[in-house]
Amino acid sequence: MAPLRTPLVVGNWKMNASPTEAVRLTEALLPILTRFPSVERVVCPPFVSLTDVARRLERTDILVGAQDLFWEDSGAWTGEVSGPMLRGLCRYVLVGHSERRAQFGETDETARKRVQAALRNELRPILCVGETLDEREAGVAVEVVTRQVARALEGIESGSINPIVIAYEPVWAIGTGRAASPADANEMAGGVIRPVLASKLGADKAAQIRILYGGSLTASNAASFFSQVDVDGGLVGGASLRPDEFAAIVSAAA
Ligand code: PEP
Repeated sequence: MAPLRTPLVVGNWKMNASPTEAVRLTEALLPILTRFPSVERVVCPPFVSLTDVARRLERTDILVGAQDLFWEDSGAWTGEVSGPMLRGLCRYVLVGHSERRAQFGETDETARKRVQAALRNELRPILCVGETLDEREAGVAVEVVTRQVARALEGIESGSINPIVIAYEPVWAIGTGRAASPADANEMAGGVIRPVLASKLGADKAAQIRILYGGSLTASNAASFFSQVDVDGGLVGGASLRPDEFAAIVSAAA
């Protein structure tokens, strides 16, 4: 019997929306997103809006995520935000997004430390992995994604792994309007990522972990991704800022 994995759709607002606009966006999303209780729905606003958005979503079944966290819990780390600060405010946290890898020097090692910090603080990490266009063209996409997943999960106890989510986001598909093919996304999820998870954690655990696709997901292509057997939902950037389009993506996962 196929494992039961609740579909998950996550909106990454990136560095968009002032605190006032973030609350307005939340108000606009609320009535439409509540129509799809069979899908776990998460929004990831900027840090400065987390409290307001979380407050607005209290007593709803829409969850909040942060876009990053630092691996230490406290101390002299000017500008950083830690797990204990986020815990209680949000349930999920993005880790190793390709924009952070490309612009802010994040590596597999810092992703690993962040995954551990998230788990230690009862946050569910959404580990983002994916190859660049150069890597794809050089024929090393599988190798890159395998390494990213394996390294980020090094040393993690299989008992603590359940809440983790993996987002396969080919870098060349993010914000470009050029999505991967659903079959390629499914092959990366089911043929590459899940076997890496299985080799580390055992097949049963690996079968329970949700793998999302991200990269130019829209209302018109979402259903073709979500109908793939190993794609358990989506990580949505640009389209998550448009309430009707985000809701249509969620509806495709329902
Ligand atoms: C992302 O930033 O994670 C993303 C998938 O962006 P977009 O949907 O805009 O391609």
